[in-house]
Amino acid sequence: MREIDVKLITEKVRDLCMKANTDLGEDVLQAFDRAMEREESPLGIEILKELKENARIAKEESVPICQDTGFAVVFIDLGQEVHLAGGNLKEAIEEGVRQGFRDGYLRKSVCHPFTRVNTGDNTPAIIHTEVVPGDKIRVIVAPKGGGSENMSRVVMLTPSDGVEGIKRFVVQRVKESGSNPCPPTIVGVGIGGTFEQAALLAKKSLLRPLGSKNPVPELDRLESEILTEINRLGIGPQGLGGRTTSLAVHMLLMPCHIASFPLAVNIQCHVQRHKEAEI
Ligand code: SF4
Repeated sequence: MREIDVKLITEKVRDLCMKANTDLGEDVLQAFDRAMEREESPLGIEILKELKENARIAKEESVPICQDTGFAVVFIDLGQEVHLAGGNLKEAIEEGVRQGFRDGYLRKSVCHPFTRVNTGDNTPAIIHTEVVPGDKIRVIVAPKGGGSENMSRVVMLTPSDGVEGIKRFVVQRVKESGSNPCPPTIVGVGIGGTFEQAALLAKKSLLRPLGSKNPVPELDRLESEILTEINRLGIGPQGLGGRTTSLAVHMLLMPCHIASFPLAVNIQCHVQRHKEAEI
Protein backbone atom coordinates (compact mmCIF):
# COMPACT_ATOMS: atom_id res chain seq x y z
CA MET A 1 0.00 0.00 0.00
CA ARG A 2 1.28 3.48 -0.88
CA GLU A 3 0.16 6.32 1.34
CA ILE A 4 -0.65 9.62 -0.37
CA ASP A 5 -1.64 12.75 1.52
CA VAL A 6 -4.75 14.34 0.00
CA LYS A 7 -3.01 17.74 0.27
CA LEU A 8 -1.01 16.67 -2.79
CA ILE A 9 -4.26 16.20 -4.70
CA THR A 10 -5.41 19.68 -3.67
CA GLU A 11 -2.13 21.15 -4.96
CA LYS A 12 -2.35 19.30 -8.27
CA VAL A 13 -5.99 20.25 -8.86
CA ARG A 14 -5.20 23.90 -8.05
CA ASP A 15 -2.30 24.00 -10.53
CA LEU A 16 -4.20 22.10 -13.23
CA CYS A 17 -7.20 24.47 -13.02
CA MET A 18 -4.89 27.39 -13.77
CA LYS A 19 -2.80 25.59 -16.40
CA ALA A 20 -5.80 24.21 -18.30
CA ASN A 21 -7.30 27.69 -18.51
CA THR A 22 -4.19 29.47 -19.77
CA ASP A 23 -2.20 26.92 -21.77
CA LEU A 24 -3.98 25.45 -24.80
CA GLY A 25 -2.50 22.07 -25.78
CA GLU A 26 0.00 21.73 -28.63
CA ASP A 27 -2.40 19.25 -30.29
CA VAL A 28 -5.06 21.98 -30.53
CA LEU A 29 -2.62 24.53 -31.96
CA GLN A 30 -1.51 22.00 -34.58
CA ALA A 31 -5.16 21.31 -35.42
CA PHE A 32 -5.62 25.07 -36.04
CA ASP A 33 -2.62 24.95 -38.42
CA ARG A 34 -4.03 22.00 -40.35
CA ALA A 35 -7.42 23.73 -40.54
CA MET A 36 -5.82 26.92 -41.94
CA GLU A 37 -4.30 24.89 -44.78
CA ARG A 38 -7.71 23.45 -45.71
CA GLU A 39 -9.92 26.47 -45.07
CA GLU A 40 -11.30 28.16 -48.18
CA SER A 41 -12.87 31.21 -46.53
CA PRO A 42 -10.44 34.16 -46.09
CA LEU A 43 -12.44 35.27 -43.03
CA GLY A 44 -12.29 31.71 -41.66
CA ILE A 45 -8.49 31.69 -42.04
CA GLU A 46 -8.28 35.07 -40.32
CA ILE A 47 -10.35 33.79 -37.39
CA LEU A 48 -8.19 30.68 -37.02
CA LYS A 49 -5.11 32.94 -36.94
CA GLU A 50 -6.77 35.05 -34.23
CA LEU A 51 -7.56 31.94 -32.17
CA LYS A 52 -3.88 30.95 -32.31
CA GLU A 53 -2.78 34.45 -31.39
CA ASN A 54 -5.28 34.49 -28.51
CA ALA A 55 -3.83 31.21 -27.23
CA ARG A 56 -0.28 32.58 -27.49
CA ILE A 57 -1.14 35.68 -25.48
CA ALA A 58 -3.00 33.61 -22.86
CA LYS A 59 0.02 31.36 -22.33
CA GLU A 60 2.62 34.13 -22.31
CA GLU A 61 0.67 36.40 -19.99
CA SER A 62 -0.95 33.65 -17.90
CA VAL A 63 -4.44 34.95 -18.58
CA PRO A 64 -7.49 32.81 -19.42
CA ILE A 65 -7.91 31.67 -23.03
CA CYS A 66 -11.62 32.57 -22.69
CA GLN A 67 -13.63 34.61 -20.21
CA ASP A 68 -15.72 31.49 -19.55
CA THR A 69 -13.25 29.52 -17.45
CA GLY A 70 -15.71 26.69 -17.09
CA PHE A 71 -17.20 24.20 -14.71
CA ALA A 72 -14.36 22.19 -13.14
CA VAL A 73 -14.75 18.63 -14.42
CA VAL A 74 -12.22 16.39 -12.67
CA PHE A 75 -11.37 12.81 -13.61
CA ILE A 76 -9.54 10.73 -11.00
CA ASP A 77 -7.99 7.35 -11.74
CA LEU A 78 -7.32 6.05 -8.25
CA GLY A 79 -4.85 3.15 -7.94
CA GLN A 80 -6.30 0.44 -5.73
CA GLU A 81 -2.95 0.15 -3.91
CA VAL A 82 -3.22 3.75 -2.70
CA HIS A 83 -4.20 4.65 0.83
CA LEU A 84 -5.40 8.25 1.01
CA ALA A 85 -4.37 9.99 4.22
CA GLY A 86 -4.96 13.40 5.79
CA GLY A 87 -8.56 13.97 4.74
CA ASN A 88 -11.35 13.32 2.34
CA LEU A 89 -10.78 12.93 -1.43
CA LYS A 90 -13.84 14.93 -2.51
CA GLU A 91 -13.06 17.81 -0.15
CA ALA A 92 -9.40 17.80 -1.29
CA ILE A 93 -10.51 18.18 -4.91
CA GLU A 94 -13.04 20.91 -4.09
CA GLU A 95 -10.34 22.80 -2.17
CA GLY A 96 -8.03 22.53 -5.19
CA VAL A 97 -10.75 24.01 -7.40
CA ARG A 98 -11.40 26.78 -4.88
CA GLN A 99 -7.70 27.69 -4.71
CA GLY A 100 -7.12 27.38 -8.47
CA PHE A 101 -10.00 29.66 -9.40
CA ARG A 102 -9.07 32.15 -6.66
CA ASP A 103 -5.31 32.25 -7.28
CA GLY A 104 -5.66 32.17 -11.07
CA TYR A 105 -8.27 34.99 -11.06
CA LEU A 106 -10.56 32.69 -13.03
CA ARG A 107 -14.22 33.57 -13.41
CA LYS A 108 -16.54 31.76 -11.01
CA SER A 109 -19.22 30.25 -13.24
CA VAL A 110 -21.27 27.98 -10.96
CA CYS A 111 -24.67 28.95 -9.55
CA HIS A 112 -27.87 27.58 -8.02
CA PRO A 113 -30.13 26.52 -10.93
CA PHE A 114 -33.25 28.33 -9.56
CA THR A 115 -31.96 31.44 -7.82
CA ARG A 116 -28.92 31.81 -10.12
CA VAL A 117 -26.94 32.86 -7.03
CA ASN A 118 -23.26 32.16 -7.64
CA THR A 119 -21.63 29.63 -5.29
CA GLY A 120 -18.72 32.08 -5.14
CA ASP A 121 -15.79 29.70 -5.54
CA ASN A 122 -16.60 27.61 -8.64
CA THR A 123 -17.48 24.57 -6.54
CA PRO A 124 -18.90 22.01 -6.51
CA ALA A 125 -16.63 20.27 -8.98
CA ILE A 126 -17.94 17.46 -11.17
CA ILE A 127 -15.84 14.48 -10.06
CA HIS A 128 -15.58 11.19 -11.94
CA THR A 129 -13.57 8.63 -9.95
CA GLU A 130 -12.46 5.27 -11.27
CA VAL A 131 -10.54 2.70 -9.23
CA VAL A 132 -7.74 1.25 -11.36
CA PRO A 133 -4.86 -1.19 -10.77
CA GLY A 134 -1.60 0.22 -9.36
CA ASP A 135 -0.35 2.61 -6.69
CA LYS A 136 -0.66 5.94 -8.48
CA ILE A 137 -3.31 8.61 -8.89
CA ARG A 138 -3.99 10.27 -12.24
CA VAL A 139 -5.73 13.61 -12.05
CA ILE A 140 -7.27 15.28 -15.11
CA VAL A 141 -8.89 18.70 -14.91
CA ALA A 142 -11.09 19.58 -17.89
CA PRO A 143 -12.89 22.93 -17.38
CA LYS A 144 -16.06 22.96 -19.49
CA GLY A 145 -17.56 26.14 -20.91
CA GLY A 146 -21.30 26.73 -20.86
CA GLY A 147 -21.77 27.69 -24.52
CA SER A 148 -20.64 24.36 -25.90
CA GLU A 149 -22.09 22.27 -23.05
CA ASN A 150 -25.51 23.81 -23.73
CA MET A 151 -25.47 22.43 -27.28
CA SER A 152 -24.88 18.85 -26.06
CA ARG A 153 -27.61 16.18 -26.03
CA VAL A 154 -28.38 12.61 -25.01
CA VAL A 155 -30.89 10.67 -27.08
CA MET A 156 -32.20 7.11 -26.83
CA LEU A 157 -32.27 5.90 -30.42
CA THR A 158 -33.94 2.62 -31.30
CA PRO A 159 -31.76 -0.36 -32.27
CA SER A 160 -33.07 -0.17 -35.84
CA ASP A 161 -31.68 3.38 -36.23
CA GLY A 162 -28.23 1.80 -36.68
CA VAL A 163 -25.09 3.60 -37.75
CA GLU A 164 -27.07 5.84 -40.12
CA GLY A 165 -29.07 7.02 -37.10
CA ILE A 166 -25.85 8.04 -35.34
CA LYS A 167 -24.66 10.00 -38.38
CA ARG A 168 -27.99 11.77 -38.80
CA PHE A 169 -28.27 12.78 -35.17
CA VAL A 170 -24.67 13.99 -34.75
CA VAL A 171 -24.63 16.05 -37.95
CA GLN A 172 -28.07 17.52 -37.19
CA ARG A 173 -26.92 18.45 -33.66
CA VAL A 174 -23.93 20.34 -35.01
CA LYS A 175 -26.12 22.01 -37.66
CA GLU A 176 -28.71 23.16 -35.11
CA SER A 177 -25.94 24.39 -32.78
CA GLY A 178 -24.71 26.84 -35.43
CA SER A 179 -22.36 29.42 -33.96
CA ASN A 180 -23.49 28.87 -30.33
CA PRO A 181 -20.65 26.52 -29.27
CA CYS A 182 -17.92 28.85 -30.64
CA PRO A 183 -16.71 26.74 -33.56
CA PRO A 184 -14.44 25.18 -34.67
CA THR A 185 -15.60 22.50 -32.26
CA ILE A 186 -14.60 19.02 -31.26
CA VAL A 187 -17.60 16.70 -31.28
CA GLY A 188 -17.49 14.07 -28.54
CA VAL A 189 -19.78 11.10 -29.19
CA GLY A 190 -20.69 8.39 -26.67
CA ILE A 191 -22.40 5.31 -28.05
CA GLY A 192 -24.00 2.57 -25.97
CA GLY A 193 -24.02 1.88 -22.24
CA THR A 194 -26.98 3.43 -20.46
CA PHE A 195 -28.50 6.93 -20.55
CA GLU A 196 -25.93 8.43 -18.15
CA GLN A 197 -23.00 6.31 -19.33
CA ALA A 198 -23.40 7.50 -22.92
CA ALA A 199 -22.99 11.10 -21.72
CA LEU A 200 -19.87 10.20 -19.76
CA LEU A 201 -18.40 8.35 -22.76
CA ALA A 202 -18.99 11.43 -24.92
CA LYS A 203 -17.23 13.65 -22.38
CA LYS A 204 -14.32 11.23 -21.95
CA SER A 205 -13.84 10.97 -25.70
CA LEU A 206 -12.87 14.66 -25.68
CA LEU A 207 -9.76 13.84 -23.64
CA ARG A 208 -8.14 12.04 -26.59
CA PRO A 209 -5.42 14.15 -28.23
CA LEU A 210 -6.55 15.96 -31.37
CA GLY A 211 -5.12 14.45 -34.52
CA SER A 212 -4.88 10.95 -33.00
CA LYS A 213 -6.60 7.96 -34.55
CA ASN A 214 -9.40 6.11 -32.83
CA PRO A 215 -7.89 2.71 -31.89
CA VAL A 216 -11.11 1.00 -33.09
CA PRO A 217 -10.93 1.00 -36.94
CA GLU A 218 -14.72 1.00 -37.37
CA LEU A 219 -15.08 4.08 -35.15
CA ASP A 220 -12.10 5.76 -36.80
CA ARG A 221 -13.85 5.43 -40.18
CA LEU A 222 -17.13 6.69 -38.78
CA GLU A 223 -15.41 9.69 -37.16
CA SER A 224 -13.91 10.70 -40.54
CA GLU A 225 -17.20 10.24 -42.40
CA ILE A 226 -19.15 12.36 -39.90
CA LEU A 227 -16.43 15.04 -39.77
CA THR A 228 -16.56 15.35 -43.57
CA GLU A 229 -20.34 15.80 -43.46
CA ILE A 230 -20.11 18.35 -40.64
CA ASN A 231 -17.52 20.39 -42.49
CA ARG A 232 -19.81 20.53 -45.53
CA LEU A 233 -22.39 22.44 -43.47
CA GLY A 234 -20.57 25.73 -44.07
CA ILE A 235 -20.93 27.03 -40.49
CA GLY A 236 -17.16 27.69 -40.28
CA PRO A 237 -14.94 29.32 -37.63
CA GLN A 238 -17.07 31.29 -35.15
CA GLY A 239 -20.10 30.58 -37.37
CA LEU A 240 -19.06 33.13 -40.00
CA GLY A 241 -18.82 30.65 -42.86
CA GLY A 242 -16.18 28.25 -44.05
CA ARG A 243 -15.13 24.64 -44.09
CA THR A 244 -13.81 24.37 -40.53
CA THR A 245 -16.92 23.85 -38.44
CA SER A 246 -15.29 21.06 -36.42
CA LEU A 247 -11.68 20.05 -35.91
CA ALA A 248 -12.51 16.45 -35.03
CA VAL A 249 -15.17 13.93 -34.09
CA HIS A 250 -14.16 11.63 -31.22
CA MET A 251 -16.08 8.47 -30.34
CA LEU A 252 -16.20 5.98 -27.50
CA LEU A 253 -18.44 2.93 -27.55
CA MET A 254 -19.55 0.23 -25.13
CA PRO A 255 -22.20 -2.50 -25.27
CA CYS A 256 -25.79 -1.54 -24.50
CA HIS A 257 -29.06 -3.24 -23.52
CA ILE A 258 -30.65 -5.31 -26.32
CA ALA A 259 -33.66 -2.97 -26.33
CA SER A 260 -31.66 0.29 -26.31
CA PHE A 261 -29.34 2.44 -28.39
CA PRO A 262 -28.13 5.36 -26.23
CA LEU A 263 -26.26 8.12 -28.01
CA ALA A 264 -24.71 11.27 -26.54
CA VAL A 265 -23.12 14.26 -28.22
CA ASN A 266 -20.91 16.44 -26.05
CA ILE A 267 -19.81 19.47 -28.01
CA GLN A 268 -16.52 21.11 -27.08
CA CYS A 269 -15.60 24.59 -28.28
CA HIS A 270 -12.19 25.44 -29.73
CA VAL A 271 -10.97 26.06 -26.15
CA GLN A 272 -10.27 22.34 -25.88
CA ARG A 273 -8.64 22.52 -22.44
CA HIS A 274 -7.63 19.70 -20.18
CA LYS A 275 -4.43 19.07 -18.25
CA GLU A 276 -3.32 16.10 -16.25
CA ALA A 277 -0.83 15.05 -13.59
CA GLU A 278 0.25 11.82 -11.96
CA ILE A 279 0.91 11.40 -8.29
S1 SF4 B 1 -18.12 27.96 -25.57
FE1 SF4 B 1 -15.91 27.93 -25.25
S2 SF4 B 1 -15.05 29.65 -26.43
FE2 SF4 B 1 -17.30 29.93 -26.26
S3 SF4 B 1 -17.51 31.27 -24.48
FE3 SF4 B 1 -17.71 29.15 -23.71
S4 SF4 B 1 -15.62 28.53 -23.12
FE4 SF4 B 1 -15.45 30.37 -24.37
